[in-house]
Amino acid sequence: MYPMSKPLIIRGGTIIDGRARAKPTRADILVVKGRIQKIGKPIRASGATVLDAKGALVTPGFIDVHAHSDIPALQDSSAQGRVFDGVTTELSGTCGLSLFPLTGATAPSRRKGLSKHGLACDWTTAADYFDVVTSYGTAINRGFFVGHGTVRASVVGYEGRRATIKEIDHMAGLLSESFEQGAFGLSSGLCYPPGCFAGRREMTALCKVAAEFGRPYVTHMRSEGQSALSAIRETLGYGRATGVPIQISHLKIAGRGNWWKFDRVMALIDAAKADGVDVAADRYPYLASQTGLATLFPDWLMDGGAEKALARLTRPSTRRKLMAYIRRTHRRKDLWGTIQIARAKGRAEAFEGMTVQDAADHMGLPPQDALFEILIASKMNCSAIYFNMSEDHLVQIYKRRDVMVGSDSCSRSLTGPTAEGQPHPRTFGTFARFLSHYVIKKKLLPLPAAIAKITSQSAKRFGITDRGHIKQGLRADLAIFDPATLRDNATFEKPFQLSSGMRHLLVNGVAVLKNGKETGKRPGVVLRA
Ligand SMILES: [Zn+2]
Repeated sequence: MYPMSKPLIIRGGTIIDGRARAKPTRADILVVKGRIQKIGKPIRASGATVLDAKGALVTPGFIDVHAHSDIPALQDSSAQGRVFDGVTTELSGTCGLSLFPLTGATAPSRRKGLSKHGLACDWTTAADYFDVVTSYGTAINRGFFVGHGTVRASVVGYEGRRATIKEIDHMAGLLSESFEQGAFGLSSGLCYPPGCFAGRREMTALCKVAAEFGRPYVTHMRSEGQSALSAIRETLGYGRATGVPIQISHLKIAGRGNWWKFDRVMALIDAAKADGVDVAADRYPYLASQTGLATLFPDWLMDGGAEKALARLTRPSTRRKLMAYIRRTHRRKDLWGTIQIARAKGRAEAFEGMTVQDAADHMGLPPQDALFEILIASKMNCSAIYFNMSEDHLVQIYKRRDVMVGSDSCSRSLTGPTAEGQPHPRTFGTFARFLSHYVIKKKLLPLPAAIAKITSQSAKRFGITDRGHIKQGLRADLAIFDPATLRDNATFEKPFQLSSGMRHLLVNGVAVLKNGKETGKRPGVVLRA
């Protein structure tokens, strides 16, 4: 499973070992057979490869707890953007979207959708999918959550209705199977179809299964803006009812008109924790989100899938209803200038990189009509970047002990099949930005505490026992970087930019980055919970 490699010495670096109060220490590290064998100074071993770490920090490799690399894991084994950002492990299958289990009535259409990416997807279960990822090879370690949306699609399809008791039992069975095969937790995306059609009975039953396995419930909540307070109450309610550990994905309050709810949300989380609910969260270090353009609208638009939504969008009465909804939920005059088209399929591709306002000016239409045109031209296949968050909230969120860092993006490279569209800059710059901007420059946290957040704390949260610390006997996932030159370079305008400052990166004891250059090695493995 793990590749054989020559002994390796990391010489002369300053080690921050992953503990929140670690004292930075100058020492060498000896790596043998993928594991940390010795920490001390100076270390000599004949025949060992030596990596120079003078002037650099040596930390555990970073763990991205919120990734969407389910498809890229089968398209691009290099994970180039991640590697330059210091990430050695990522957890995908978030927001309710995993690529397993693929069964039931919707499986054929989902397979067809995936085949558009040139993927022959003949797998059904988690175990099958893990085998396919493994056979494809990977530079970094990858773990996966099982997505509630995928499980629901397999059993209920995309109909906008509650599940029956029998269907819930069926879902629970698929969930158990995924957990037995190593899925790290149950993820949900309750603002997206088909997750948005699930009621509390269904979610409680499924959280109970996760609790029995000791795996967390990782949730993109039903609302992060308009209905954020009821959404957080719902989420914490699952923790109270079932004992499942709760992981709130990309914690935020979206929309200036909703920012006042932030303190209430934090107070509700703290009250639940005081009552013994195990709650944690993650966040990316940016003030804009990226998601489907259609999420601007209420759930009923997508009932029955994209085809039905497109038909609805052609009706003037429906358009009027949708616009009234937007006016109610987004009370800001400059709204259309704060929404940037990220990725649009088909005829709408020309609008990538423009705001809805830009596109409207371009088409000579009022913005709301331009929005409908883009959705129709892209067949609802359009994502957008929403500039809607508060810097002050971000600072408060990162200061919390229970918050980790997750990029909420897929691993991509500057070339190949993943080099397309206009992704959010978090795709390339999350960890370099967190450390260089928020920790080193703004001094939000002491450096060892910040390193702990992105290494040991994340590993502990998801039950990854042999990574996340620099300690004898653990897997040698190591990031060696120069804190003075570490920088994120990806921007909203030009997202395809690698981070700089990463000198070496070791995954299972093998350098995937050496002296700032990719080695072409693929030592990563699929992690199983
Ligand atoms: Zn999400």
